[in-house]
Amino acid sequence: MSLRQKVVIVTGASSGIGVAIAQVLAREGAQLALVGRNLQNLQATQTTLEQQRAGVQTLIVVADVTTQATQIVQQTVAKFGRIDVLVNNAGILGNGALLDLDMQEFDAVLNTNLRAVVLLTKAVLPQLLQTKGAVVNVSSCAGLRPFAGALSYGISKAALDQFTRIVSQELAPQGVRVNSVNPGFVVTNIHQRIGIVDKDYESLLHRAIASHPMGRVGDVLEVAEAVAFLASSKASFTTGALLPIDGGKHNYTPR
Ligand code: NDP
Repeated sequence: MSLRQKVVIVTGASSGIGVAIAQVLAREGAQLALVGRNLQNLQATQTTLEQQRAGVQTLIVVADVTTQATQIVQQTVAKFGRIDVLVNNAGILGNGALLDLDMQEFDAVLNTNLRAVVLLTKAVLPQLLQTKGAVVNVSSCAGLRPFAGALSYGISKAALDQFTRIVSQELAPQGVRVNSVNPGFVVTNIHQRIGIVDKDYESLLHRAIASHPMGRVGDVLEVAEAVAFLASSKASFTTGALLPIDGGKHNYTPR
């Protein structure tokens, strides 16, 4: 996929979709800065990558994406000397409709899913302009269509999608591509992190399966393969694209 020796930052590489993205990019020959807050989980990702591909070059960056963009860039450049691709994958869920909306949660979701992406992309941009690199944002099907009860999350991802479109236009003349993947429901820890567990999770999963026209939810690797494609030179004429990886959910109409 022409990712050999490319230096890629993957945020949220300590869990779920981010681990799979790191695995697929490592398979394609990339050198990886693995970003997250949980050192133990980042080390587990690193071990997985080393077992998968001997000689893979990785750097663990323990950082909060909402506040430590500069450190992420500095540590990556200090280790690898350049940055070719930024994968903005770190994200959190929010729960709730307008009437019961917790504004602290709203701020936290917007801060992580939107503001931190703007902050880190801005910080990485001087490097990407030098390498004529690429950005891949991990958005959501919830950015493409409304889901009642997922107000803060849906707003954060819809705004992220507009960020992808606008910045792709700004940077196209300089040869930097900006795209997003928009997954449907994927089994990770993201729901458990906000307390959706046990019977509530089973019920959510059941409803999620029914709302994907392909009759199932997605797998982390299905998202990761799409990220690798958009990061690679195979997508050299693609920018500003929002790629649903959702079994058709973005067009779903109940019968
Ligand atoms: P997980 O909860 O499994 O992983 C989330 C990752 O984000 C973790 O690695 C976590 O790192 C990181 N993260 C969160 N906040 C911060 C922060 N402030 N600073 C640094 N890292 C942070 O979720 P998923 O893998 O499911 O989600 C990955 C992305 O995919 C998200 O953007 C999500 O919105 C999107 N997505 C997920 C879907 C799903 O159904 N799972 C569907 C559609 C989109 P740590 O724990 O180390 O802090």
